[in-house]
Amino acid sequence: MANTPYPQSYYAASANPVPPRPALQGEVETDVCIIGAGYTGLSSALFLLENGFKVSIVEAAKVGFGASGRNGGQIVNSYSRDIDVIERTVGPKQAQLLGHMAFEGGRIIRERVAKYNIQCDLKDGGVFAALTSKQMGHLESQKRLWERFGHNQLELMDQKRIREVVACDSYIGGMLDMSGGHIHPLNLALGEAAAVESLGGIIYEQTPAVRIERGANPVVHTPQGKVRAKFIIVAGNAYLGNLVPELAAKSMPCGTQVITTEPLGEELARTLLPQDYCVEDCNYLLDYYRLTSDKRLIFGGGVVYGARDPANIEAIIRPKMLKAFPQLKNVKIDYAWTGNFLLTLSRLPQVGRIGDNIYYSQGCSGHGVTYTHLAGKVLAEALRGQAERFDAFAGLPHYPFPGGQMLRVPFSAIGAWYYSLRDRLGF
Ligand SMILES: Cc1cc2nc3c(=O)[nH]c(=O)nc-3n(C[C@H](O)[C@H](O)[C@H](O)COP(=O)(O)OP(=O)(O)OC[C@H]3O[C@@H](n4cnc5c(N)ncnc54)[C@H](O)[C@@H]3O)c2cc1C
Repeated sequence: MANTPYPQSYYAASANPVPPRPALQGEVETDVCIIGAGYTGLSSALFLLENGFKVSIVEAAKVGFGASGRNGGQIVNSYSRDIDVIERTVGPKQAQLLGHMAFEGGRIIRERVAKYNIQCDLKDGGVFAALTSKQMGHLESQKRLWERFGHNQLELMDQKRIREVVACDSYIGGMLDMSGGHIHPLNLALGEAAAVESLGGIIYEQTPAVRIERGANPVVHTPQGKVRAKFIIVAGNAYLGNLVPELAAKSMPCGTQVITTEPLGEELARTLLPQDYCVEDCNYLLDYYRLTSDKRLIFGGGVVYGARDPANIEAIIRPKMLKAFPQLKNVKIDYAWTGNFLLTLSRLPQVGRIGDNIYYSQGCSGHGVTYTHLAGKVLAEALRGQAERFDAFAGLPHYPFPGGQMLRVPFSAIGAWYYSLRDRLGF
């Protein structure tokens, strides 16, 4: 059977050592079978194991092979659409519940890191950088909105203040969120996997779920075995393919690209980001960046609708990096990779249950490091019979992409072009 390795990323090159995890051979029985060992699957597993469930995870490649092991590492609070949009869509009662959960994922990450002693270079502090006065106005209302839900670690920054934390002249201001921050994403996933195993959970790597047999006693079929379970959690996100056709219709995998410089040295690194905060700008197609523990700059941006891998990632992302930091023009790029996230039309997560026993959460549309950790808790609560918070997510409406499977890629690209133009023109 094919052995799928990690992509050649900075994260894979600096991953903490892990034990070998063999593929599933034969038949096993468990309470919950989770499909996918990214943050959604691992977080669900941890909450379930902590509450006495038996858990097996089948992972098509390796722990953190998907977005969870390749992302920008930015701990960004809330959802990819903010609570005011949710309020307008589903009304104040549901928005109230979702609003209060919007900052929980970051706390869960910090609790996990502390409780299981996960070595993942956790740092506090994330900056949202505004390029236009319209974006700055949006940050001001976002701060008021988040404060309504009890989030009070926020500071608005004018042009002078943001220049003290980011050596980029393009920004007119921004917002600092001290409960944001950054991590080595793959090492977080690997640490969570070790925690799962320490509680008796089993992770089968190189074990794709190829078919789900639905019914009162569902079975997950893999190339050389099967898992009989009381419940299944589908956590394959943008890498799931068509395993669950009703989910694929209302979501679209998208690629985003990341580059990593050679080590910059302490001094240059400190001039770029003196407090070591991570940064994302407020554009529709946003740039995001941060320093690593060995003082490289990780810089991401760009979206490829439909998740085709671009031929030359450095050629796409390096100009964006040099626009923000022209002082890096002679710096070498050591790593470049792409990863897929799952977009929904509303940009809100797609959560629900199929029949009585197949649960899913996916499609957080770009910002997922915190949400996926929350999702694990919410799914575990639902399996324990406490479904109020699960129902708040499951009640969010989702629609197929305009153009269907055939035309959703060009239609979405046209939409993104329009929103990018609005960002550039500041309206
Ligand atoms: C390049 C990039 C940068 C990003 N940067 C940020 C960021 O800085 N901050 C932020 O908040 N969010 C970011 N995101 C989004 C965030 O990483 C994701 O939302 C999150 O990691 C999704 O986690 P997940 O567990 O749902 O999915 P994934 O991490 O993609 O995990 C899914 C797993 O399921 C497995 N799988 C799929 N199908 C099957 C199957 N049939 N059988 C078995 N296993 C299967 C896959 O192999 C994979 O390991 C970024 C995403 C990308 C791609």
